[in-house]
Amino acid sequence: MRVCVVGSGGREHALALALARTAEVVVAPGNPGMPSTPVGGYSITMTALAPESVEADLWVIGPEQPLVDGLADKLRADDHLVFGPGADGARLEGSKAFMKEVLDEAGVATARYGAFDDVAPAHDFLRQLPGPWVVKTDGLASGKGVLVTDDRAEAEADVVAKLSGEAFGDAGRRVVVEEGLVGTEVSLLVLCDGTRIVPLPVARDFKRLEDGDAGPNTGGMGAVSGVGLVDDALVDTILDTSVEPLVAALRRRGIDYRGVLYAGLILTADGPQVLEYNVRFGDPETQVVLPRVDEDVTALLAQAASGHLRTDPRPAPSAAVCVVLASAGYPASPRYGDPIEGLDTAAALAEVAVLHAGTALDDLGRPVTAGGRVLGVVGTGAAVADARDRAYAAVDVINWEGMQYRRDIAADTPGSAS
Ligand code: AMP
Repeated sequence: MRVCVVGSGGREHALALALARTAEVVVAPGNPGMPSTPVGGYSITMTALAPESVEADLWVIGPEQPLVDGLADKLRADDHLVFGPGADGARLEGSKAFMKEVLDEAGVATARYGAFDDVAPAHDFLRQLPGPWVVKTDGLASGKGVLVTDDRAEAEADVVAKLSGEAFGDAGRRVVVEEGLVGTEVSLLVLCDGTRIVPLPVARDFKRLEDGDAGPNTGGMGAVSGVGLVDDALVDTILDTSVEPLVAALRRRGIDYRGVLYAGLILTADGPQVLEYNVRFGDPETQVVLPRVDEDVTALLAQAASGHLRTDPRPAPSAAVCVVLASAGYPASPRYGDPIEGLDTAAALAEVAVLHAGTALDDLGRPVTAGGRVLGVVGTGAAVADARDRAYAAVDVINWEGMQYRRDIAADTPGSAS
């Protein structure tokens, strides 16, 4: 089997490593610093070809933008086997207002909200909510279009900045205003074959730039997955109340959703509530979820893509922790071109994977920073504490000028005490 992974970040590197346990993998385009690594008997290579021109038996589309743009539809029209929803299903992520409408229709618990094109009604709605207040761009903004604040004046100013197009261009010309929910956040990734769903291990991600959840929101500064993060009964409740009804609502709309449904949830005092649905694997959640899937990942994704999910993967009794290393100036103005030291030493450590998200090679063939999030360093182990120790031991040998990372990823997770 030959699998084409579409995308270029750390998530795609993690997918490539998991798929290459059982299949030959080609990443389109990958990133120039991503090593072409043989895994077991299978190779991982990069290609500059457009995904449509790659020879493969299965396509796995990583990022949301090509899904929203209809790449899966295009490939399916050529009779290819594709893991990833068509543009109809991808609208769940492409428009937050659409997602909220489908959740309401499905009876899924989610924060009170309103969608607005004009400032005055958005401000009126903000005044009706008790706070904290949340303002989101309707369109895609790489995970950065969300403000959560205890200060209503700040929320009001953010509505103005977004609707004017000043803050996020066209993605912000419509905003979704929400009541802020309080509780622990978890991510549940579920494979879907159009009808049936199977859950992957639960993960938690860390969105803020600095330790103690301070600083600006980012695409994600780390993630953890391990036993005890959420108990099995709660996972079953989430599947019954938040995921199954959504898939049924999609089917009623004629949407045959084959891909991953990523539920971002907040565990409130009144039970789990959905913050958002994404239509692709989370980045960096994928980096900690896939190492805990003991099954043949290629077979699982191919089953979902063909509408016949048979396997029900149970999470391995293990843990994984991913620490993201970001470039100087991230997220506001990331600096590129800084030489990266220590990659080989880190990658040689046991139970460590160094995943490339934003790297390139300079004129002398040395790895340099080439993105906001540069590397994801993943440690695995029997317990969260082991996985965490391994990830940070590897982080300690990697360096570049202005490298930023959090020291508290998974520090307060069940099972993290050393
Ligand atoms: P989203 O892109 O919708 O996942 O939002 C990004 C982050 O903003 C989430 O991971 C939460 O940390 C936070 N957030 C979004 N919506 C809410 C809400 N209604 N209440 C509290 N926090 C939220």
